[in-house]
Formats: sequence, structure tokens, C-alpha cells
Amino acid sequence: MRRAYNAGRYDEARRHAHTLLSKPKEAELARSVIVRSYWNEQAFETLVQTAEHWDDELTQSYVALAQEQLSSTPGKALTPMKESRLERLRDAQPQPQHSLEWNPNNMPSNFSQEGLRLWFRYPQGQVYWDMPAGFDLSSTHPALLSLAAETLLYPWESATRAPFSSTRAMGGRASLSFSAGTDSTAAALVMPDETLLGYHRRSFDSMLDHRNAQRLIDHLNESGVREVLQIESNHELIRTHHGKPVGFSSDFACAVHLILLADHFDLGAIGFGMPIDNTYLWKGRKFRKFDETQYCTYWIKRFAQAGLDLLFPISSISEAGALMVVKDSLWLKHLNSCMRGDGTKGCERCWKCFHKNGPLGRPFDIKAHEIQTYLNKRPMPTATHALWALQSMGHEDEVPDLAHLFERDYAWWAEIYPAGFDLLPERWRGPIEARIRSVLPVMNEPYELHNVNHFDE
Ligand SMILES: [Zn+2]
Repeated sequence: MRRAYNAGRYDEARRHAHTLLSKPKEAELARSVIVRSYWNEQAFETLVQTAEHWDDELTQSYVALAQEQLSSTPGKALTPMKESRLERLRDAQPQPQHSLEWNPNNMPSNFSQEGLRLWFRYPQGQVYWDMPAGFDLSSTHPALLSLAAETLLYPWESATRAPFSSTRAMGGRASLSFSAGTDSTAAALVMPDETLLGYHRRSFDSMLDHRNAQRLIDHLNESGVREVLQIESNHELIRTHHGKPVGFSSDFACAVHLILLADHFDLGAIGFGMPIDNTYLWKGRKFRKFDETQYCTYWIKRFAQAGLDLLFPISSISEAGALMVVKDSLWLKHLNSCMRGDGTKGCERCWKCFHKNGPLGRPFDIKAHEIQTYLNKRPMPTATHALWALQSMGHEDEVPDLAHLFERDYAWWAEIYPAGFDLLPERWRGPIEARIRSVLPVMNEPYELHNVNHFDE
């Protein structure tokens, strides 16, 4: 079995492996050969179908990775079992007393209010948000409703891209789409103190553990250093009608609650904690002039028409820079990005424990299966950050095939890329820039960042 596997004869290796599955002593190795061979063949669907119910850690980490691959590859459907689970979840959702008909020609007319619950009709169903006291749909500007609909349906409904019927005047207060993770926490730290932090809370039970987030949110609210608003909604179900797992419809759908509440709180800006990894780098591994991308110019214009500055408060720093900003703050002890820990500590075995907790000086096991699986994926996920983390923590020998990439020194990755400040509208730039400069040094010119293209793409 091993010989066949190592020689890349995966069919043969699997045939041997299947004969060993019932033998307790050899079953684990056999399962690992089966999942690894399917992984190497990129047979993600077969991998998930075969291994979904095997419960050892290695198998489960491959299943999770394969599901991720399937959900990010257009045209590939979810497994039938997952699909029926989602159907049950959708069927169990609350329904409005008065249903609307979907109207593609007038986006604002797809919203309705019942008590403090705001409903949105989309082609396949209805989702809701539970709004704070005093919220009033009828005094919410139609441009905000249209922008909200667009962030929710952008990938599938071209009607949402129609010009808004009117333009909203700019509001006064800044806000931030806040997940309580490292990047959005760094963004909260560098934005003005009066920034409203808006946390989206999934209204139904799922694998997502809110405990870590809740700890930081409670600290911020109780200490009064920031105001964190928590809005419950089930809008992450919309994209499950399009063969995707539960999640945000688009990059900006994580802030849809703030868009809908912009008149209620007089909001004039919404920030997103997107570091260089998601802005000036394509998939974290190839440089691009972010400010010139169609993505950037289009969405800045759309937000502006709804009276909102689209803010990228940490676009001048990377995920490493964000870690350093958080490390420098008193909030650090209330923050942990690991989703599998007990709410206080990390699990020490997941990818987040390696690349987020590791550089903060927290323990992790570099040999843990999930960490090894990600490190050995090509192209490596969040590559620039992972290379920096491996180099700065002395683990370069884990990826011998990438030795040539370590001829460079990645210390610059934790420094400021000043061009990122140019993305900030004038009225917000001053305080944000000053706070970031007070924590981190500036990259040397010529910028290494401009040459990033680790896998010659
Ligand atoms: Zn972990």
C-alpha cells in the first residue's frame, strides 16, 4: 500500500487500503492513504463522500479542506447530504406574517418591517434582521436599501446593479464591520474611539462558536472603550440557494446590518478589516495595484452614492502588521482567533493557531495534521503571511520545496506600506495614519511588496 502510494499509483494504494479498513490496528493508516490519494488527485467530491463520517483528526481536516475547495470552485455542487441538511435549516426559519413578492425593478420595495424585525424578500425566500429599538424602515434612505440588496445578491442578480433612484447625503459617524477576529480588531484599534463596531450574529446554531468573539465584545462594551452593536440575522442562508455553504454572499455582505442602520446611527463610513493580504495582494500571493482595480473603484462609488465612505483602515498593513497592532494593545488578552479553543485558549493544532496565535508567542504544534496539510498545499494559502510566519519562527525546514523563497527576508511584511494610506478619504485619514505609524515602522523602498509573486502566476 505504501509503495503504491509513494509511487503515485493511487488506485492500487486505495485497493490495498480498503482491505485494511476493518483491521483496528491498520485502519487509521488505511484511511489516511485513501484521503491523501483522493486529495492528490483533486477528487474532492469523492473524498468528502468517502470520508465524511470517519472521525479521526487527519481525515476530518482533509474533508474540511476538500469542502472548502468544492465551495470555492464554481459549478461544483455540494454533496446531496449537505444539501438536504441546508434544506431542513431553511425550512426551520421564521417567516413574516405578510409575505412580499420579489420585485427586481425596485430594490427598496423588497424590504418590510414587522415590529423590530426587518424582512428582505429575495427571489428564493425571505431573511431578517432584529433591529435595535427605534429603528424605522420608512425613514431609511432608499439608496441604503438598494446598496444592502446589492451586497446580498450581487453575484446572482444583475438587477441589483441598477443606478440608485436618489443619492443619500454623507453621514457623520464612522463604523466598522466587526468580527472580533485579529484583522477587524486591529482595524477597530486604529479607527477613532467613537467608531461604532457592528457585529453580525448568526441567528441559527452552526459549527461557528461565538464564545471567543463574545469575550472581546463584552470587554469592549463593559469597559466602555468602544460601543459594539450586535445584530442577529439569518441572511447567510441566501447563498445556500446557489450551491454554497452558509456564509456571506459577497465581501461586503458582512456589513449589511450597518448599511441598513446607517440612517438610524447617522453613519458616514463603513470600515472593513482587510489587510494588504486581501487588497494589494491577489489571494495573498501576487501584487496588484488595488486602488486601480475595478472592484475597488466600483464599490467606492456605490457606497458614496449611499452617503458612506468605503473605508479600508488597515490596507497599509498586512495580517502580520495587524497582529502587531493587536499585540501592542490592552485588548490582546481578550482576543483569540482559534475557533476550536475553549473560549480562552487556542487548540494549538489548527491553521489559525499557527499563523495568528504563533506570531503572538502562543503555543502551537507545527506537526499537527491541519497545519501540515495547509503548509503542504500548493499554492500555499495566505502564502506571504505563512512564509513570514515560518521564517520569523524558524520553521523554514517544514517546506523544503520552497527553500528558494526563503532567500528573501520577510521582515518588511510586518511594516507599513504607506501607499495604503492614500485609499483613506481625507476626513478619516489623519487619525488612522497617526495610530498605525505610532506602532509600526515604514517599509524600505523599493518595496519588496511590489515583487510578490511567489508561485510565478
Ligand atoms: Zn486552534
